[in-house]
Amino acid sequence: MPDYTLPKTYNFHATEERIYEWWEKSGYFKPSNDPCRPGFDPQKKPYVISIPPPNVTGELHLGHAMFVSMEDLMIRYHRMKGIPALWVPGTDHAGIATQLQVEKSLKKEGLTREQIGREEFLRRTWEWKEKYGGIITQQIRRLGASCDWERERFTLDEGLSRAVREAFVRLYEKGLIYRGPRLINWSPGLKTAVSDLEVDYVEEPGTLYYFQYRLAGEEMDYIPVATTRPETILGDTAVAVHPEDPRYQKYIGRQVIVPILNRLIPVIPDEYVDREFGGGALKVTPGHDPNDYAIAQRHGLPILSVLDESARVNANGGPYQGLDRFEARKRLWEDMRLAGLTIKEEPYILNIPRSQRGGEIVEPMISTQWFVHIQPLAEAALQAVRDDRIQIVPERFTKVYYNWLENIEDWCISRQLWWGHRIPVWYCRECGQMTVARMDPTACAHCGSPQIEQDPDVLDTWFSSGLWPFSTLGWPEKTPDYLYFYPTTMMETGYDILFFWVARMIMAGLEFTGQVPFSTVYLHGLIRDEHGRKMSKSYGNVIDPLTMMEKLGTDALRFTLLVGSTPGNDMNLSAKKVEANRNFANKIWNAGRYIISSLQQAPAEPAGEPTWTLADSWIWARLQELIRDVERLFQSYQYGEAGRQIYDFFWSEFADWYVEIAKLQLSEGGDRAFYTSRTLVHILDLCLRLLHPFTPFISEELWGHLKRASEAHSPRMAPTGGWAEALIIARWPESRLLEGWEQDKVTDFSLIQDVIRAIRNLRAEKNVKSGQRIPAVLVSDSFSVTLKEQAQAIAHLAQLEPGRLEIHPHLSSKPANHIALVVGPVEIYLPLADLVDITEERSRLEKDLDEVSFQILRLESLLSSPFAEKAPPLVVQKEREKLESYLETAGKLRAQLEALN
Ligand SMILES: [Zn+2]
Repeated sequence: MPDYTLPKTYNFHATEERIYEWWEKSGYFKPSNDPCRPGFDPQKKPYVISIPPPNVTGELHLGHAMFVSMEDLMIRYHRMKGIPALWVPGTDHAGIATQLQVEKSLKKEGLTREQIGREEFLRRTWEWKEKYGGIITQQIRRLGASCDWERERFTLDEGLSRAVREAFVRLYEKGLIYRGPRLINWSPGLKTAVSDLEVDYVEEPGTLYYFQYRLAGEEMDYIPVATTRPETILGDTAVAVHPEDPRYQKYIGRQVIVPILNRLIPVIPDEYVDREFGGGALKVTPGHDPNDYAIAQRHGLPILSVLDESARVNANGGPYQGLDRFEARKRLWEDMRLAGLTIKEEPYILNIPRSQRGGEIVEPMISTQWFVHIQPLAEAALQAVRDDRIQIVPERFTKVYYNWLENIEDWCISRQLWWGHRIPVWYCRECGQMTVARMDPTACAHCGSPQIEQDPDVLDTWFSSGLWPFSTLGWPEKTPDYLYFYPTTMMETGYDILFFWVARMIMAGLEFTGQVPFSTVYLHGLIRDEHGRKMSKSYGNVIDPLTMMEKLGTDALRFTLLVGSTPGNDMNLSAKKVEANRNFANKIWNAGRYIISSLQQAPAEPAGEPTWTLADSWIWARLQELIRDVERLFQSYQYGEAGRQIYDFFWSEFADWYVEIAKLQLSEGGDRAFYTSRTLVHILDLCLRLLHPFTPFISEELWGHLKRASEAHSPRMAPTGGWAEALIIARWPESRLLEGWEQDKVTDFSLIQDVIRAIRNLRAEKNVKSGQRIPAVLVSDSFSVTLKEQAQAIAHLAQLEPGRLEIHPHLSSKPANHIALVVGPVEIYLPLADLVDITEERSRLEKDLDEVSFQILRLESLLSSPFAEKAPPLVVQKEREKLESYLETAGKLRAQLEALN
């Protein structure tokens, strides 16, 4: 019989990379039914996920680790169910983020992108991408991601660029794309528009400046106005007052003078004005404030822009031209103070719009941009969720989705960057018309002039990632991949990008393919620290997934993320939790190591038909119950709960109970040893299958050992259908209905467990040394037969003396000097003398009694002294209560001492 011994500890360092390479090389990541390979069956329904493409600039953080673990779990589960599973990987070109990286390196050479020009800049950016763009995908591989890497895509690669062109031109031809002036969020540092979603509003201390808007022709009279941004006074085109404000009604229709610039602007009535704020009148700067912009549109006011793209004052700012916005604020205010136009300044909490990227203050500005007329797209996207063509998990986000799409504004898609999909629009110098084309034109489509120039802007990166589920499969071509794998099945991502990305994919999918891009949206929560705080560098509480994998193994990290999560809820993570799951990995390894080594105790062939012990039946029934529960939980997306149940079963039932009883059964030898060994192998095999989507590496490694050792030992150890080539492609345990015998076996074994636990607890309470075997008497009318059958197991697990374990249906009188326990129908009697060392116990009790007696004497003498009359009654009362309590304790101690004799 071959000796098959595993290393003492699981070495994840030596295992993970080797296993991953083997999986990939063996083609296990490819769908089992593939339109690009022979034997393709178009009737089989596939399961498809497109990865949320991480930025090429990305470095693995817990957010990535979360979605990779979750999607890999989904893919592995479906793959094991025999469903053709495809996980399409890829990366996003990440416009601003990548451009900034390259600009940073240029800066080190003392260069700017303007100096080297667009072509050279793009060449360098591609170079940067080739060099560093693979880091994030390497890190994703390390997490065990079973993506089909031969289908990896990049948002700027040729096929996806063609998809972007196609999408833009189609929208343009349908009249859904237009160019126009718009108040947008402008990032002066990045010199580009940023979307509303990319702006964070931060409360910060600031100043509210009060000043006079003097009336034209009557300069002693003024309207007091307050502002937090005095430099915007330069762009004021009106002062608005509430139409019912008695203070200012008389000024409506008159004109006031813009400070320093001396332009005349009207006083207008508008109900938007808050009479309580500032002086109750509002300066209107439509060029630099979204609310003022709306007022200007209502009243037909001119829109004046006073800042340039770097947020410096432009020619409209008169003497302040060329000054930075904050410098202009200081200078203008100082000049107004000298002119006697200021009233006061007071501290004020501002709500400052800051760019998520870079953190600088975003400036609302008027600018000419490209927009998608979003309403018709949003309407279709709403309908798709309303009529259940798309299910959002958890369901509560459906409402958030509706609310957002019902109030959506047109989408500004142009960005003033160089790295990205350049807008496919050419302007003609001769006739001034636009040519919008799928292929780069050489001449104007209207007058034929070759004097055309392409729009310098690029598209928002969400424009290309919105096409991701179908562009990655070959759209607009009707490729075999597109025809078979689209629409995809599952969109799994963090709830924080439901709008940024998920809603846009739904809109784009419906518009361009006429189908929903996926049928389910699963939103996971965000990861916070152990105290529930956001992880951030400034708090110093960031957990680096790479460090965790390096120190504790990938499986421990994955298991922690998966088991800690519930759909849509944030989870708290600590290194301690990952450590606990590293211990779980070790527990799995140790149990597996024992099971494999114990094969040698079993004969290769049994002599007779199988007979099963209560423990065999119990563990089998419990495993079937677990498989049913896991299936139900997976079907309702409760992956975390499924993982917790597998963990509990493996640790608290299989390893702690069954494996311990199996040791006894194996020692019997013969058929008992054979069938016990086979049960151990089967249960471990099925547990490893259930664990595989959670902890792919250790399960595959251990399963490989189990398979080889079992094969070497006996063909009779193989599971039904034989051993698969690898666990990753082995069949998922099939859940079957509850069979008649199961419930009784589980009930009986549970009672045996309760009896053993009760004895163990008492031993612990009485500090009985581990390993010290004690006698016991068990009495039960209804259960004595089962107890007798299980006597060996009970004695083994409760550390009883097998020769002095009595089991009776009745007892004429209760044994003296025994402690009695009752567990359901079972009475347990344990001899006191064996639970405690009498000499030691007596000396401990005597010592306690001495101490108590001393306190009694002290209190008695105190209470018979003048203290009892002089001290406050409450204090005396307290001392009396103490005395009574000591007297009571002394009585108990004496009784216990007597019982020892
Ligand atoms: Zn032309």
